[in-house]
Amino acid sequence: MVFSLAATPISLLSLQPRLIVLEWVIERVNGRAISNAIPSKDDSMSNSDYKLLPFRWKVTASFWINPSNSYGFRSDSVVSVIVEAAGTWDKETSFEVFKYMGVTSRKAGRYDRFNVISWGSYRAGVIAVTYIWYTGDTIIETDTLLNTFYKWSLNGEPGRMDVQNIMTHEFGHWCGLDDLYDDKDYWLTMYGYASLGEIYKRSLGLGDILGLRAVYGG
Ligand SMILES: [Zn+2]
Repeated sequence: MVFSLAATPISLLSLQPRLIVLEWVIERVNGRAISNAIPSKDDSMSNSDYKLLPFRWKVTASFWINPSNSYGFRSDSVVSVIVEAAGTWDKETSFEVFKYMGVTSRKAGRYDRFNVISWGSYRAGVIAVTYIWYTGDTIIETDTLLNTFYKWSLNGEPGRMDVQNIMTHEFGHWCGLDDLYDDKDYWLTMYGYASLGEIYKRSLGLGDILGLRAVYGG
């Protein structure tokens, strides 16, 4: 369904949702005290770690994509990798977590009752930002902004952020999962740092799936 602001019931407007901003930072390679606790091999299918946010969607999260970009990507190519990222979560539970609605010219980061993914300007060091508006334990709106400070790629090119890799992580926040910052959680999708050219977060680990099912069931 398409929301119309004019048709928004007044009771929804009076909810006065709170906003939390989850910033996903680029890995501080030189700034981190230790990195030797990162497992040398991908152990994500035996790592059951996850952390839940204190709020969640109670209904399917319908989302719109603003594919406008300065990287020369075709709109349908942008849509394709983002829908793929959402589907990576959706196929692990019987609940319909996400529903792609179409393209939009709306921007992420504004409370307008549209769940929007778009590029936009943000400060250096932050790859992407997920905005969550909520009341109590219920999410009302979620947006994700991809930071134009960085170069992006649709196919994991070195020196660029991979859209599908980053969006799979960000959709984890939409699912109600929080970041993990311990080195031992490096190989999970919800690990809170990322690197240029990285694509391993496109696929979920055990902890990511267990966290999803803790929210939505199996
Ligand atoms: Zn994150």
